[in-house]
Amino acid sequence: MKQELADKLYQKYPEIFSGRHNDTNPIHYGIAVLDGWYNIIDTAFFAIQQHINSRNGSVSQVVAIQIKEKFGTLRLYCDGGDEYISGIIRYAEIISAVICEVCGAPGKVCNDDGFYKCRCKPCLDVEVVARQQELFEHTLTELAFAEDDETSQEDLDDGDNDG
Ligand SMILES: [Zn+2]
Repeated sequence: MKQELADKLYQKYPEIFSGRHNDTNPIHYGIAVLDGWYNIIDTAFFAIQQHINSRNGSVSQVVAIQIKEKFGTLRLYCDGGDEYISGIIRYAEIISAVICEVCGAPGKVCNDDGFYKCRCKPCLDVEVVARQQELFEHTLTELAFAEDDETSQEDLDDGDNDG
């Protein structure tokens, strides 16, 4: 996630992100999902913190340990909370399966060359074209190297003839 968006979440939910200064927590290294899921995380943490605050200490503070993508959907790994909060976290994971991780538009989980990811059609198309372009350029590079090899072989033969 873009640093600017991650910083916004850290500022809005300092209690939930209090564990990010501990380098044994994966969250110390950032929020490992793309920007399209910002609103899911923001609304989930808003509802969670509001629930904790309304219970006057009877619900333990939720602390984020790791935020990542797995099999195309969001995972919010946290300590603390109660069953109500577990329900919010589960719902955030479920709704991430229909929201594009890149741009936040409606999307679906698709299998792109062996990788599961949640994308809208335009974002998926961009990535597929980019990968094909990369493959094409890689092939061109290999062909160029093959030609170089042939050239040096010819140079070597010329050298032999001269000698
Ligand atoms: Zn998209």
